[in-house]
Amino acid sequence: MHIGIDIGGTNIKGILLDNRKVVKKVRIPTKSKTNLKIILGQIFKCIEKLISQNKNIKGIGIGVAGPIDVKNQKILNPPNVTGLKNLELGKIIEKKFKIRTIIDNDVHCLVLAEAIFGAGKNRNLVVGLGLGTGVGGGIVINKEIIYGKTGTAGEFGHMTIDKHGRKCSCGNKGCLEAYLSESGIRKTAFEILGRRIDTITLYNMARKGDSKAIEVWKTTGEYLGLGLANIVDTLNPDIIVIGGGIANAGELLLNSAKSEMRKNVLSPKAGKTQVILAKLGEWAGAIGATLL
Ligand SMILES: [Zn+2]
Repeated sequence: MHIGIDIGGTNIKGILLDNRKVVKKVRIPTKSKTNLKIILGQIFKCIEKLISQNKNIKGIGIGVAGPIDVKNQKILNPPNVTGLKNLELGKIIEKKFKIRTIIDNDVHCLVLAEAIFGAGKNRNLVVGLGLGTGVGGGIVINKEIIYGKTGTAGEFGHMTIDKHGRKCSCGNKGCLEAYLSESGIRKTAFEILGRRIDTITLYNMARKGDSKAIEVWKTTGEYLGLGLANIVDTLNPDIIVIGGGIANAGELLLNSAKSEMRKNVLSPKAGKTQVILAKLGEWAGAIGATLL
């Protein structure tokens, strides 16, 4: 049996996986994003609930947003749960529970779960994007996450799609994240609608047929399509999986993304690369963490 934990800004989600089956799910509020003692307390509580009487836990996997030094198992600079900054969380968990623990980036976990159990099942080269507060990414080949020399392979959120474009959270200009993150979409909405609006309202308006709201999603999809074309030309993957909260916009976002991708890829054959929504939903991160 393996435990998987997904640490988010709102909830800590945990699952217990037994022989590829989810046997227990636990969700507890994160409570604090900055106070390390409180955050650790909540993580411990989540793990304790999953272990309960069980003596047969072989490993714990943990997914956290933001860059992770996988080699040294250290959380570097988490964008939402900032209290975990520079923490060797794996070592702390291992010491407390005497169970081998591995940490990794949350979108890596999501892509791994989708590659093994979800939308990318039985595919060799799976690329995934997680669209939410930020834009994360991951590459899985033959069921293994690709890290690259220093661990940043697959950071598609920071590929430049317009060098004169918007300022990104990383300090550069025109990154994909500056257009596809929640705040990026809100900026595009402001440009088109002339007022401030959140992404859920924007989604509901578009579903009801509001032409300007539809235009915001279409424009956002075109930015995504440019990113997808770069991914296809670089990696020629079997499939690209789109997950994260923003992916709930579905076809409003994906239709224009796919046509923009086809327009911009080198080979028409590669332009047919499948781009589909993640299948495992909100527990994908925790499932992926068990697979670490
Ligand atoms: Zn950036």
